[in-house]
Amino acid sequence: MRTANGAAGRCRRHQVKAGAGFALRTPFERRYVSAFSASAHPDAVRAFNATPPVARKFFPGARGLYRTGHHYVVAPASWAEMPEGAGWVAVVAHEIGHAVDFHGRGVANGRSLWLAPAIRRDRATLDGRLQSAMAGSREKGDARLALAHFPSAARARLLHLVPDPGAAGTFAAVWNVGRMEEALALLGRSALALRSDREATVPHALVKISDFIGAVYDLERGGGHSRRYYRSFGQILGPALTVGHTAEAFANAFLADVLEGTELLSFLAASSAPATHAAYREILRRIVRGQGCA
Ligand SMILES: [Zn+2]
Repeated sequence: MRTANGAAGRCRRHQVKAGAGFALRTPFERRYVSAFSASAHPDAVRAFNATPPVARKFFPGARGLYRTGHHYVVAPASWAEMPEGAGWVAVVAHEIGHAVDFHGRGVANGRSLWLAPAIRRDRATLDGRLQSAMAGSREKGDARLALAHFPSAARARLLHLVPDPGAAGTFAAVWNVGRMEEALALLGRSALALRSDREATVPHALVKISDFIGAVYDLERGGGHSRRYYRSFGQILGPALTVGHTAEAFANAFLADVLEGTELLSFLAASSAPATHAAYREILRRIVRGQGCA
């Protein structure tokens, strides 16, 4: 995310639609967005379609940047020909999340600012939620029974990614009791073994789930962007919460809604930070109600 002043681009006539209903309006969108999930969340799809298409620039050595005002994303013309391959699809999904958040606005005025009270709420209730998760049903932390506590679509997606039910159950058990970083590391190792081009985005998406958690909990949990990065933005509602936190949480929640594996990714985002995730979805609906392209 970078800042600049100026007007965003205009909506263009939709030409092609991807499986989930994404409007593919430019060659850039046709190359990248067509690699997103066919079961992307409908509110994320509508918010994407209500956002003018981003322009694309590429500076060798640069990676993943959305520039507000100019409304462009830094990415190569074709991910398929890059050494990082599908990793670029995940990068672009995150940067388009910033575009949905910031288009037509400066960085101090992003739509994701509205996440701030929800992030405060998730931070304030984290310890209590973890305690009740650990004190809850013993099944939740039992590798053989833990999967039953996942929503069916997330469970099916997990078993598709990690066909070994024992490994999937271990992941679910570790996740259910709030050991989020450990669970993501386990799943990342399993996902690295994936072969298809589309699912090759999954390991990158899991890193971004960790970044989502880091943004919500200011790195008390999760990982990703540094505290130094977050502190470079203006403070909101007291200490340790800036527009950097709200913007990165929003961009990663969007990524989870649109990439292959979304059934699982969005569940991980929602269960790690329920108030923040609910507020993010409400922002999507507001974008669709207020700023749709005719
Ligand atoms: Zn970002």
